[in-house]
Formats: sequence, C-alpha cells, structure tokens
Amino acid sequence: MATLKPMPVATKISAPFWQALKENQLKIQQCKQCEGWVFFPRNHCSHCLAHELQWQQVSGEGTLYSYTLTRIPTMPEFSDEMPQALAVVELAQGVRINTTLIDVAEQDIKIGMPVKAVFDKVSSDGDTLLRFTSINNAGGVREYINPLNGLERNDKGQVQVPLSNLAALYALADNKYTDWSNVVVVDQDLINAFADLSGDDYWLHTDPERAKTDSPFKTTIAHGSLVQVLQSRLTIALPFEIIGFNNMVNYGSNRLRFPAPVPAGATIYGRSKVKDISVSHKGVQLTLEMNIHVVGNDKPSVINDLVILYR
Ligand SMILES: [Zn+2]
Repeated sequence: MATLKPMPVATKISAPFWQALKENQLKIQQCKQCEGWVFFPRNHCSHCLAHELQWQQVSGEGTLYSYTLTRIPTMPEFSDEMPQALAVVELAQGVRINTTLIDVAEQDIKIGMPVKAVFDKVSSDGDTLLRFTSINNAGGVREYINPLNGLERNDKGQVQVPLSNLAALYALADNKYTDWSNVVVVDQDLINAFADLSGDDYWLHTDPERAKTDSPFKTTIAHGSLVQVLQSRLTIALPFEIIGFNNMVNYGSNRLRFPAPVPAGATIYGRSKVKDISVSHKGVQLTLEMNIHVVGNDKPSVINDLVILYR
C-alpha cells in the first residue's frame, strides 16, 4: 500500500469488476435473458430481474452525462487532486458510471463530450481506479507515480518530505520495516537501576536466585517498560525526514504490548515502520510502529505504535 486515500472495497459481487480494472479491462454485467446491460454490479438484472448475469468486456467509450468541479476537497486526502471533476459517464451500452474526469481543462469540459476509459494505477500494488478522459487524449493506462520520487534528500540520504505534501506523506505509510538498529545489552545492573528508579522491584526482575526456581523463564526478566524506553538508545535509520513544520510533539501511543520477555543479559535491537498518516484540525499525525526484539527472536518484546503530531 502506498496510498491512504479511501479505496474501494471489492465485494463478492463486484470483485470481477475490480479485478478486470487491474488487468486494464472494463467489464460490466450483461443479462443472459434480456441482453440488458447492468451497472453497478449486482446479482440480478435491473431490467427483467433475471439472475443470469455474465461479465462482458466493453470498449470503455461513452459520453459525459454530468459533472461537477470540487472547489474544496471532499476529504483532506484529496487536497492534492483539486479541483476534482466528479463525473457521471454514460457508456455506449447505456449504463452510467460515477467516476472522475482527468486531464481535461475546465473550459473544455462539455456535457455530451465523447470520453474514454483510463485505468489509473493508484498504488504500488496495482490497485486501479476507473477514470475517464477526452476521446482526443491518450487513454489506456496511467502508471503509478510514487510521490516520493523527485523529492530532495538530506546528507543522510533521507528523502525530505514537506509537511504540506500530503501525497508524499501518505506514500510513507508503505508498511515496510527499516533495517535493524544497533544492539543494546539488557543486563541485571540495568534492570536493577530501573527497579530503583521506578520503584518496581518485583522479584521476577530483581532476584536472580529466586528466579532460577520460581520464574517460568528460569531467570530474571527486564521490565516491559524498561525495554520500551530503551528505544531511545536504538538508532533507527528512518528513510525519510519530515520538514516544514513548526513543532513536533510525542502524542503518546495507540498500542503498547509486551508479547515476549527479555531475559536478563539478552541483547535487543529494534526496527520500525510507518503505519498510518492522518490529517485533522490538530495537524498531521504520524503513527510509527516501533518493534523491539531480543536479537534472533521473531516475536517482538515490545510493540509500540507511537503517535507523533506535527503542526
Ligand atoms: Zn434481464
């Protein structure tokens, strides 16, 4: 995923439509009984109510039936597409499709103008939206362009993403982990120091002798919250730097879990990925999933969905 714009969710009935778009084909349903064309996808004919519909590939040519231009974004996620030409296109088969008209200047948009389909690749995964353009334009496939391409890089090689560039911000949430950080050893001295500081001196953390016999781990383990704060000692090589904001605050955590113990003496490291970007009146919220593992253990010891607020 490299877009956090709201995306269509295919249902069992509509899945062939979305799959065909991925393959750069427009398929709509036709009734086997009355040969009527049907759109949107459904399980009965809208003309004769028969249940025998079949998917047929069509040319994608039609005419503009109606449109409106958005002067304010319909949702913040669409602010990079302004103005959107929200359109209703009537296909040659007579059915009407809600869509977006692209690559046509405002003054050139005319009701009744001939249009053709564009298969717009909107994510790196090949997700495709059906849009339309003037019959005089090149139709066909509009390839996915990563909005991070072409941005400046800093001297650490990180791509610099301005807070105002929403499309690029959304592209950061690509669900890919960074490389592993440096390692830190969590020894008994460190655990004892944290027990003194926090007041949590439960024997499972601080009494190695008793832990040998009474602990299910046969040794002392670090406090989950100790391992959590040790993330400050882990240098995570984020592939990006957000620029152009006034201030940045740690807004807390959406999820904090300690799925696996860290035995005293273990070596830990961490990695992270951008999980979510959202925009609200408070600013831009970036959710960074931070995972800390004992080196070599597939199961994380800490999962922390950190929320950072930029404004
Ligand atoms: Zn029918």
